[in-house]
Amino acid sequence: MTSSPTQGVLYVVSAPSGAGKTSLVKALLKADPAIRLSISFTTRAPRPSETDGRDYLFVSRERFEVMLTEGEFLEHAEVYGNFYGTSKGSITRDLNAGRDLLLEIDWQGAEQVRQHFPQSASIFILPPSFNALRTRLAGRGQDSDEVIERRLAAAAHDVAHADAFDYIIVNDDFDHALLDLVAITRSVRLEAARQLYRHAALFDEFRRI
Ligand code: 5GP
Repeated sequence: MTSSPTQGVLYVVSAPSGAGKTSLVKALLKADPAIRLSISFTTRAPRPSETDGRDYLFVSRERFEVMLTEGEFLEHAEVYGNFYGTSKGSITRDLNAGRDLLLEIDWQGAEQVRQHFPQSASIFILPPSFNALRTRLAGRGQDSDEVIERRLAAAAHDVAHADAFDYIIVNDDFDHALLDLVAITRSVRLEAARQLYRHAALFDEFRRI
């Protein structure tokens, strides 16, 4: 797929679980309502706080496999034994309509998206330390000890892929990390190719002089 200034911006945000990605993305969407969050499909069971259609589109493994065979996913990955995927159709529709979209996906998905949309902007969020990650995962009380240990083991593997991303944020202080995230998304939107298109009338005005 080729880049076009008429298309919306595609942001990809990844992080090891517990790095604070979901809270940061929520705050970003509040600060910048022009960015829409893509809702992923997953075979994972909903957590008590989660709603189908808002947090994820929860589907059976069988349904996911049919969608995969039918080429419905832009990207997909198996994370902690569950499948996750981004719908190709809805992403393409939104971007072509000029809407800015954010995908909150793992590094494997980010790699696949980068291949389809080289013009996308990918951001990796790091926790300030390994110990901070352990404390955050235990503190949110949503996973068993076994799951927490698995997530911690996976974190090292996740972080090893940070160098493939366009931007890296260390979430030491939430407000500061949010400012960084807002700065990145705003600067991508201000890229010359997009601005030349958006402000074509202004440039025309100067050309006429
Ligand atoms: P959780 O189960 O904690 O909500 O998410 C587990 C991991 O799966 C997180 O790293 C999250 O970013 C990732 N994830 C969520 N949706 C998708 C998706 O559509 N594709 C990929 N590749 N990863 C996803």
